[in-house]
Amino acid sequence: MLAFAANVTGAVSSAFAAAVFAFLDVVDVLLCFVYGFIDAVLEDSPVSCYCHGSHSAAAMEDDEVSDTLYHRRSALRDALMGLVRGRSGSPETETERRKGRSPRWSDCGCESCRAWQRHDDGRLHFVVNQPPPPNDGSVATMQHIEEDAVFIHGFTSSSSFWATVFHESSILNNCRMFAVDLLGFGKSPKPANCMYRLKDHVEMIERSLIDPLNLTSFHLISHSMGCIIALALAAKHPQRVRSITLIAPPYFGACEEKASQVALKRLAEKKLWPPLQFGSAVMSWYEHIGRTVCFLVCKNHLLWERLFRLLTRKRDVDFLLGDLTKHTHHSAWHTMHNVICGGAMLQDRNLEVVEAAGVPVQVIHGGDDQVVPVECSRHLKAKLPGAEVRLTDGCDHKTVVFGREREFAEELRAFWSASDQKQLAASASGWAG
Ligand SMILES: [Zn+2]
Ligand SMILES: [Zn+2]
Repeated sequence: MLAFAANVTGAVSSAFAAAVFAFLDVVDVLLCFVYGFIDAVLEDSPVSCYCHGSHSAAAMEDDEVSDTLYHRRSALRDALMGLVRGRSGSPETETERRKGRSPRWSDCGCESCRAWQRHDDGRLHFVVNQPPPPNDGSVATMQHIEEDAVFIHGFTSSSSFWATVFHESSILNNCRMFAVDLLGFGKSPKPANCMYRLKDHVEMIERSLIDPLNLTSFHLISHSMGCIIALALAAKHPQRVRSITLIAPPYFGACEEKASQVALKRLAEKKLWPPLQFGSAVMSWYEHIGRTVCFLVCKNHLLWERLFRLLTRKRDVDFLLGDLTKHTHHSAWHTMHNVICGGAMLQDRNLEVVEAAGVPVQVIHGGDDQVVPVECSRHLKAKLPGAEVRLTDGCDHKTVVFGREREFAEELRAFWSASDQKQLAASASGWAG
């Protein structure tokens, strides 16, 4: 009887979820017309949405553009889009897409959101945490810096994600720590004429940090989506990377289906509950509804922040909340598809390069992570048997770092010295051989 009741409740709730998402399909197609019209009026060179036309699979792979931008399986949406497509002109080419101007009418144009356009160097914003100079009265030099570490944040976050870890820098003595704001997030540039592919993110980190500061040997630490970028960076510079720490890496291992579609389905599963899950499903599957959310939230972030301060009587908005609005729809939508989904197809190759180069890898994952399932780290361990995997019970996607910064810093310290010793031993045996 109980089992029967549970079955009925399950069937009713999945029918309800299907109805809600079917409704959103219809709304998204209607919004396609609305945005098409307003863009044509307000933009000099409108950037087209992905509803019209498609790209050949080979061209997409060559260009490292994710197929999830064009194909997100939904029978109702496909049927409706068939009607729209029948009425629209020829599909836009990538070159036309790259004419987009920033900010678009639906993006915020406030001082801080446009600050990057005043500096034409077009580099990423980053923060540095230098070790204090020695106490013996000698002049501070670069000599007291023993190692460098680059920290890479996750989706809709920024360098401030690492601020509380940097407070524990005394544990990581004599380490110079860099935290970047990824392209399209935080205080970094958010161009509308960029596809935000994995290689675009990597090139920006090289151009803004690695090359100008001539970082020839550094540790990498990354959270969530940042892990995909860290692995791509390490695969490009295996001789420069001393170790990689991956926190909650989204990795789904080998499977029958295309990796990009698996990543989309698993990380943005069409579920109504919990609210965070529903939010990421809406933002990842519905281009125009997502743009509307950004139009209401990101464009008006100053108003929301003022309201938040009034209601909570706090002087500062919680940085995690503030970071959520520091992007444009264009930067978040393309990064979601081209890095999180499209990057999933490049992960195996990058992991193989990292393994072949002998770069030590440490994986840390919260046992209660609802955003990136903990099985991802198990898949990663299966792919990379040499990786050290640490599962922290009772921690979720955020508390795997927050609230345990001290422990985390100690884990880094221990892992770094162990990997340095391993590499020393390896080079010694190399000399001997
Ligand atoms: Zn559209
Ligand atoms: Zn703004």
